[in-house]
Amino acid sequence: TSVRDKLLASIRTIPDYPKPGVQFRDITTLLGDADAFATAVDGLVGPFADLGIDKIAGIEARGFILGGAVAHRLSAGFVPIRKKGKLPHETVRVAYSLEYGLDEMEMHRDGVKPGEKVIVIDDLIATGGTAEAAVKLLRQIGADIVAACFVIDLPDLGGRRKLEALGVSVRTLIA
Ligand code: 5GP
Repeated sequence: TSVRDKLLASIRTIPDYPKPGVQFRDITTLLGDADAFATAVDGLVGPFADLGIDKIAGIEARGFILGGAVAHRLSAGFVPIRKKGKLPHETVRVAYSLEYGLDEMEMHRDGVKPGEKVIVIDDLIATGGTAEAAVKLLRQIGADIVAACFVIDLPDLGGRRKLEALGVSVRTLIA
């Protein structure tokens, strides 16, 4: 089976979660399948092996799981991007819009040094609002964002275009 077929088969769709009309793509089944998990991590690592990537920035929470594995594969460090109030040291913070209202995410100010090469990782890109906030945080502290990578793209929601308009190259494994 192809990479695409393997990943598609390992993702479970939950209708009407977290609310009516939404088809939630549940990746816990992918994570629980050793072969699919390895395939996803290999796919995210993709062309980045010899580029001297310094840090993987993983977006809470599923981006932590995938990003930790990718960081290990690339011999890079890992830096968490979290919902506000969870990080103990000095942070940079950015507001971003959710479906209803605003939220904030943050990262440690010293999590990435200016000029370091960073890849952003999350499980899925929809509108791109979450990833855009991560890009803004990283740029505030002078990171060189090499790419943003996701297992799943929901192309109708325009996230890839949003990130590309910010000059970020985007890698996704399935749509
Ligand atoms: P966006 O900000 O691009 O609209 O939404 C993407 C964020 O919401 C990501 O952090 C992603 O984990 C989460 N998300 C939205 N919809 C889904 C979904 O159907 N499945 C999963 N696994 N995550 C989702």
